[in-house]
Amino acid sequence: MKVYVCFPEGKAKALTMSYDDGKIQDERLVEIFNKNGIKGTFNINYGLFDRDEKRIKAERIAELYKGHEVATHCLTHPTIERCPLVNVAREIIEDRKGLESLTGGLVRGHAYPNGSYSEEIKQLFKQLGIEYARTVRSVPDYALPTDPLEWNPTCHHNDPELMKKAEFFANFQKRQYLKLMYVWGHSYEFDDRDNWNVIEEFCEYMGGRDDIWYATNIEIIDYMAAAKNLKFSGDNEAVYNPSAISVWLQVNDKKYVEVKGGAYVDLNA
Ligand SMILES: [Zn+2]
Repeated sequence: MKVYVCFPEGKAKALTMSYDDGKIQDERLVEIFNKNGIKGTFNINYGLFDRDEKRIKAERIAELYKGHEVATHCLTHPTIERCPLVNVAREIIEDRKGLESLTGGLVRGHAYPNGSYSEEIKQLFKQLGIEYARTVRSVPDYALPTDPLEWNPTCHHNDPELMKKAEFFANFQKRQYLKLMYVWGHSYEFDDRDNWNVIEEFCEYMGGRDDIWYATNIEIIDYMAAAKNLKFSGDNEAVYNPSAISVWLQVNDKKYVEVKGGAYVDLNA
């Protein structure tokens, strides 16, 4: 019996977006995402709400980003590789605590401010409950991260080949691998460059597709963790899912099976 892990509903492709700094242009960006059913992760500095008028207000965070993910971006946006480690720890813990107090949920993701990190910082973050962290290094391999603490996006939205990449991804039909397109940026860049059409066009083109899973960063991490945690019988024909969320399997190429959280499933049935 051939058994493959799929994304939810048996899909083999996912799209995720990651936007930094929580500036007021996120209002318009979230509206575009919502209109097209696209999910994003928003990386916020809890210590900078009152710094200027150009940031989303603390009391708006929970409502604006509902259905998306709020993740850490450090308390005050330092270049962390240059900071004492104890300060980096504080930057993460205080950002987590603050954002969790605003959203009422757990905040377990991160985007490195200015793209700065080190091997030491990655280990520290893991110990402080951060499960993934995004870099600013574009790697257009459309692959799931091999090291989630060094999660390279596919491209920035200013990539001149953004739509070419979108078309490649949308038309990609092979199912040998689970594929991911991951776009990042800052919403204020659309005002700076007067090019909101770039993200509008991208989201309209990529949204509403049956074969793409629209997910936040942490949803992908949690899903893959649940998939990895499946327990298979010795003959591979039965499976137990001890996690709380469903995991989808492709069985003998044609059949798709949802293994619900807590369920034991006979894959022959
Ligand atoms: Zn930033």
